[in-house]
Amino acid sequence: MLQQALDEANRRLKQNSSNSGKPPWSDGLAKKPAADRNRSLRGKSGKKPGGQAGHQGHTCQPRTDPDQIVDHFPDTCRHCGSKLVDDDVTRNHSSRQIIDLKDGKVHVIEYRAFEGHCPCCQGITRAQYPESVKAPVQYGPELMAMVCILHTEIQLPVNKIVRILELFLKIRISESTVTAMCRKMAQRLEPVVEKLEQKVCRDSKVKNLDETGFRVNGRLHWLHVVATRCLTVYRISEKRGEMFPKLWGCLVHDHWKPYYKVEGVKHALCNAHHLRKLQLVSDLNPKEKWAGRMQQLLHRMNRWKKKKKGGDSDNFPELRGMLEEYDRILDQGIQHDESLPPLKQKSRGKQKKRKGHNLAVRLQEYKEDTPRDS
Ligand SMILES: [Zn+2]
Repeated sequence: MLQQALDEANRRLKQNSSNSGKPPWSDGLAKKPAADRNRSLRGKSGKKPGGQAGHQGHTCQPRTDPDQIVDHFPDTCRHCGSKLVDDDVTRNHSSRQIIDLKDGKVHVIEYRAFEGHCPCCQGITRAQYPESVKAPVQYGPELMAMVCILHTEIQLPVNKIVRILELFLKIRISESTVTAMCRKMAQRLEPVVEKLEQKVCRDSKVKNLDETGFRVNGRLHWLHVVATRCLTVYRISEKRGEMFPKLWGCLVHDHWKPYYKVEGVKHALCNAHHLRKLQLVSDLNPKEKWAGRMQQLLHRMNRWKKKKKGGDSDNFPELRGMLEEYDRILDQGIQHDESLPPLKQKSRGKQKKRKGHNLAVRLQEYKEDTPRDS
């Protein structure tokens, strides 16, 4: 019976999205062996990646009915430098189009570059297009911004963006064009992001930091965040421990050890994390009453702080009272855990302690960073 249960547990542990009906998100970020990661059940097709010979591409076609036409005429002859007047302009022209959005609808602007015939040297001069109009057909900034928002902020996959544009705007665009638009936008926004990062890291006294696992092309990377009340900056890094540069002031975080390696800063531990950990201690052992009392005290301190900020209170005796209670609750917690029989050890070494004990010790040790007032 026991063996059966063990076999079942073992079977479940080995299941993931590549060998069962489990969804990919349930795989977590733990790395699978390379052979497993790249295993395709379809086998190799023998074709090269990308578009195949004879495939009809999505080259952007000009519209026959543009919404707006902008004419450009040459004003001087490029051969002899003579001034060209209206009468010198011929009907011959070439055109380029910009497909964009205006008031939520597709809006096509056609730029026409007319030819001029020089009466002095008989040479032909074609008018210049505006600097930003570079291709026979190109997409405008509003459309590009929409595509980038769909991909980055709303996090839609590229193939779904292609489908949305086709269904709702009748614009046929390739997946590689969507990717290229996002890259271009990222390059353009680099200086803005740099300024934001500078503002958050160097100009703001208190900032929140965190990091989470993130896949880039199937490989584990780290998404780092630094945020103040108004600004948030994200950065992707290959290393979990790569900190934002030039941090100063007070860093609010979840007690991940490398944050404590940043020099010359104060630390404030995130009490939302503490409240959850205290809840777990209560859930695991309802007799650990200290955990619930500490939750109440942290809430009370938070209310006190908000009142003080609003200018309603500078009641420091109350703060002193709360800090004394903080010590008393932790003493009770540690005493309670020490009164329990020691946990069974699997191997020799340091005596294993209960979660409640470890949390109480940590809150005691980092008292300065838990109810930090300044
Ligand atoms: Zn000329």
